[in-house]
Amino acid sequence: MGRSKLPVDLLVRGGTVVAVDADDTVVRADVAVADGRIAGIGRDLDVEPEVVLDATDAAVVPGFVNAHMHETLDRGVFEDLPFVEWLEEYALPKDMAYEPRHMRAAAMLNQAEMIAGGTTSFIDIFRHPHEVAAVAERSGLRATISPQIVDTPAGAGETVADAVGFVEHWHRRIPGRIRAWFGPHALYSCTPETYRCIRELTCVYDVGIHTHLAESRAEAGMIAEQSGGLSPVRWLDELVGLGSDVVAAHCVELSDDDLALLVERGVGIAHCPTSNAKLGNGIARIPEMLAAGAVVGLGTDSNMTNNDLDMFEEMRLAALVQKQRTGDPTVLPSGQVLRMATMGSARVLGVDHRVGSIEVGKAADLAVVDLRGAHARPIVRHGRTNIVEQLVWACSARDVRHTVVDGRVLMQDRQLLTLDVEEVVELADREIVDLLRSAGVLEKRFGPAT
Ligand SMILES: [Zn+2]
Repeated sequence: MGRSKLPVDLLVRGGTVVAVDADDTVVRADVAVADGRIAGIGRDLDVEPEVVLDATDAAVVPGFVNAHMHETLDRGVFEDLPFVEWLEEYALPKDMAYEPRHMRAAAMLNQAEMIAGGTTSFIDIFRHPHEVAAVAERSGLRATISPQIVDTPAGAGETVADAVGFVEHWHRRIPGRIRAWFGPHALYSCTPETYRCIRELTCVYDVGIHTHLAESRAEAGMIAEQSGGLSPVRWLDELVGLGSDVVAAHCVELSDDDLALLVERGVGIAHCPTSNAKLGNGIARIPEMLAAGAVVGLGTDSNMTNNDLDMFEEMRLAALVQKQRTGDPTVLPSGQVLRMATMGSARVLGVDHRVGSIEVGKAADLAVVDLRGAHARPIVRHGRTNIVEQLVWACSARDVRHTVVDGRVLMQDRQLLTLDVEEVVELADREIVDLLRSAGVLEKRFGPAT
């Protein structure tokens, strides 16, 4: 009489697991999931699964963690404009015009795209956070939502009072899956008093701060003037006391002293290479940061400055720009850049104990990436395999076959299970027109209705 098999909720069967663990394990294995956690990794697991996901000819990777993004609705509507015109005539009026209905459409659009691209966790900084959280509750994604607080110009973001209301309501509602943080936009758009006040509040609620930092030379110049000669990093440290509960997006303009301080305090750095390139900013010194022991993850920034949320593309560009900047093709090798998009970003968000790698006991946040396409071949299986190289250099979001968060299947065989793509697309198309009209820029940008 054979012993009975262990019942499990889910088995991801027949794939190659790219674990992003301490040993960089890449192995042909099934992954068993029970109660939302990884219960076993191996061949011929003695389990009785309720649901099976086919991972034949696919890589099973930790779900991507997007370490900086805004769930905006305005992809592809304000392209190729001079910066000041873009900001003053379009971006700010549009940000001011956002109503909850626009934000709901934006959150659905962004979260549908993330699930379809194998992203399982994200940190957002934008408007009407209650809408975003409600969509995340439905979509099943793991979300850290930080209301984007803006003092200047007034009305372009949330207020501290709005953010407190949001944090009060959401920060313990769905433990481990939806977190509510504070998101002061930047040192040039929030007052020093706002940053100090937010630091007191994060201590009260035991939540983190998500902000933009040292993104451009113009910012560094403004902050030096405002602070009596300090760098953005030093000024932010004066205001909030930097720590590992701070996520700083960009960090392009850093002195060696700034970098040493970020390393010493364990500040999470969200690198957004596409956005930096599109806005004509510099290139963050990522290899130097990693060599110094900084906590670095990868973010897409918004669909206005990217324009997609494809973490594969972000990995590829991150590697490309460093090789070009340093003149050294060995910097940011494939394994390191994949680690940055998974474990690195998980460390940035302070959730690496829970997600970021495929290990028994961790949350089952997985992306199954199809390797059957001609563009992802050849796959060599010899002493080792080149699957990681193909993931970083050849694959894209569209290759993701299944997406799983907390053991729950959010996409199976490219079909979204928690959001309806037709509904999302229709809503986005309708609400963007309403948003542009409310902002008074519809006709200016798109001409009279035909
Ligand atoms: Zn941003």
